[in-house]
Amino acid sequence: MTPSFFTDYPLKPEILRAIDEIGYVNPTPIQQKTIPHILENDRDVVGLAQTGTGKTAAFSLPILHKTDPNLFKVQALILCPTRELCLQITGDIEKYTKYLSGVSCVAIYGGASINNQIKLLKRNPQIIIGTPGRTLDLIKRKQLKLSELRFLVLDEADEMLSMGFQDDLNEILETSPEEKQTLLFSATFPGAIAGISKKYLNDPIQISVVKKNESTAQVSHSYYMVHERDRYAALKRVIDLNPHMYAIIFCRTRQETRDIATKLEQDGYNSDTLHGDLTQDARDRVTDRFRNKQFKLLIATDVAARGLDVKDLTHVINYNLPDETEVYVHRSGRTGRAGKLGESICIINGKESYKIKQIEKLTGKTLEHKAVPTVSDIFQKQLFVYLNKVEEAVCDEQLDEFLPAIISKLSWMTKEDLIKKFMAVEFHRFTNYYKNAQDINVHSKESTRKSKEPAKSDQGIQYVKFVINAGASQKVSPEFLIRFLNKELKKQRFKIGKIDVQKNRTFFDVDDQIAPYIEQVFDEVSIGGHDVKAQRI
Ligand code: AMP
Repeated sequence: MTPSFFTDYPLKPEILRAIDEIGYVNPTPIQQKTIPHILENDRDVVGLAQTGTGKTAAFSLPILHKTDPNLFKVQALILCPTRELCLQITGDIEKYTKYLSGVSCVAIYGGASINNQIKLLKRNPQIIIGTPGRTLDLIKRKQLKLSELRFLVLDEADEMLSMGFQDDLNEILETSPEEKQTLLFSATFPGAIAGISKKYLNDPIQISVVKKNESTAQVSHSYYMVHERDRYAALKRVIDLNPHMYAIIFCRTRQETRDIATKLEQDGYNSDTLHGDLTQDARDRVTDRFRNKQFKLLIATDVAARGLDVKDLTHVINYNLPDETEVYVHRSGRTGRAGKLGESICIINGKESYKIKQIEKLTGKTLEHKAVPTVSDIFQKQLFVYLNKVEEAVCDEQLDEFLPAIISKLSWMTKEDLIKKFMAVEFHRFTNYYKNAQDINVHSKESTRKSKEPAKSDQGIQYVKFVINAGASQKVSPEFLIRFLNKELKKQRFKIGKIDVQKNRTFFDVDDQIAPYIEQVFDEVSIGGHDVKAQRI
């Protein structure tokens, strides 16, 4: 029988006491599958699980139980993609070890003083939580010794690869002792993860908790369909319809985050961006200010927002949908936490409705097609919120002394005029912006939800999207890809659509006639010594 209480697990009483104090009572599905396995078995694990499923406790609790408090050597190494996640995991482990005397952990990550981290390592912690680059650096400097390593965790492995840590990971995996249990967690399972698993894990058991309806149970999903040129206008209307919005607006590129921030600033909104071009200090400042609600609209790329744990987001907005459908689950799982309701909103153009279908298939949820708010909807909402604010306002006595003068100055106006004028001042920004606003919904037939996957382009060609695990770092360019496909597909005629070369992967569209051959074409292909696989998405 699956234990439904933590107290059913044979964990050390000190650990049970700590988690009881934190308030965990029932293990989450990933914990139910992982904790007993690690406690009883040393077979490697591949876990398909997202952030928010409780996977940190799933691997840390049994590892802590098995950590020898009398052996002052590194016994567990937890690798993760970002400093934020590193600190989050460290914070969690510190809580779990509150009563476990003799067991300590240290976080090592780039962008911070290596000397301080070396000092902390000299205190002989048993658990290390690190980002791959800094971890490898400390191994090479012989400051981090793994001779007694018993557990190696790869957390958010897909993200570590997409951030370009593949070589660092390989080196760490190769230098660590053979006799250890490796636990790999990933939200998605691209070819490169399968490659790592095959090469470095020993007959792993598979644990999966990507259950339909599960991670997004508290989240309602909807989308707005507009012309590409109206994407920002739609975003603005959605923001205006939700005056209390506390949201992350997800973009696909750094440039896009900057463009939207500029536009929002021009339109009088307080927002900020989080993307990979920022220094670590700048990122920390932005996330702290966002957490403290000094601004309530964070415009971010997926990678930069990883590890950012903000509890009460009201909305997640997909300004552009991600290339990988699974990433949508990640994004939307950031709202609707801790029993609160959240909304995940997508803004799409007429050609992207097939992506909505893909998301529905993956999540088992229906995404409601909503009409973009009208100006009247927005005004009604804003006025209502404002009037409530007026009714609830606490009047400051300091202003009382000015009241007679104010009343005398405005005495010539009727009550109605007065209200109108106050409204005009308060809503000037809105009335001005929406003066000539029109309906921006896309109504045309070809772009209703009936459109079939794959989407038809303007020329009537049906394109299918693929991704390969090689990009600019492996010297892939659009020309290279076209030449390669021409060569491999011999004399077959085919059309290639959009090509998007990223750092370590490349997305491209090909016509559906040739699509069945693409994965085969990339079978056993090596680019710059790198095994390349193509995956249909
Ligand atoms: P994670 O997926 O590890 O980032 O965990 C997501 C959140 O769930 C964190 O805030 C954890 O503290 C919390 N959490 C993890 N396990 C449990 C549990 N069994 N019961 C309640 N909350 C949990």
